[in-house]
Amino acid sequence: MIPIRRLDLPAAAESKLAVLTAEVEKSGQRIRTAKLAWKRETFRRDAYAPALAKLKEMAPGHECCMYCGQDLADHVDHYVPINFDPLRAFLWLNYLLACSTCNSRFKKELHDVDDVTGVPLLVNPTVDDPFAHLHLVLTTGEYCGLTRRGDYTIATCGLNAGKRPAARRHALDVMSLALDKWWKAKEDGAPEGISNALSVIRDQPFAGVFQAMLRQAVTGQADLLFAGIDDGRLLHILRSPGVQNELKAST
Ligand SMILES: [Zn+2]
Repeated sequence: MIPIRRLDLPAAAESKLAVLTAEVEKSGQRIRTAKLAWKRETFRRDAYAPALAKLKEMAPGHECCMYCGQDLADHVDHYVPINFDPLRAFLWLNYLLACSTCNSRFKKELHDVDDVTGVPLLVNPTVDDPFAHLHLVLTTGEYCGLTRRGDYTIATCGLNAGKRPAARRHALDVMSLALDKWWKAKEDGAPEGISNALSVIRDQPFAGVFQAMLRQAVTGQADLLFAGIDDGRLLHILRSPGVQNELKAST
């Protein structure tokens, strides 16, 4: 998971969402009304389709899931589910792009909040800094929680399920090769090589892995965190201002 900057929805789609929110608000059966309106053809055409397109524009890599950051995504997910708050069923700020594994297999209707603060436990990459809650162990590809919200997010989205950690670990090797290629192209003053390597890095589906590498490379424990996966060259490249400034994602 990486920070994602939310873009604006086209005004016509926003208006459609506002009309539907008003309809739900007036209803005596808000959850039922919201679920029926969600399936309505005019909603699908006038608001769902533009929202999905905008979310894909915001998503990392080639339309990757905003939760796991690695699987292709094609669903508009309600961060706060309709059953929990039907008034957010048609709220642009409540929409995230999710893959079927995160959305349908793991998250489903789960939505727990902190008993005291009322803050949702699931990390929202368009609002929260995922790196404050989730640490990626580069040597294994597994996430570990830095906070209660981090632990909840790992469990709720199945971030360490199945082959996901192994795929992240593999992505780290691919990123190391691409960075090495980029560095050499810069040293040789080869613009085509630079842009090829950059597009490999920017468009690869494991944005969470690369962004974790960038952040962990500039911490005091970097040598320990990269032990066994770097002979010193990778850290040198990751720490260079060019890489840090050009490639670091933020909300
Ligand atoms: Zn996912």
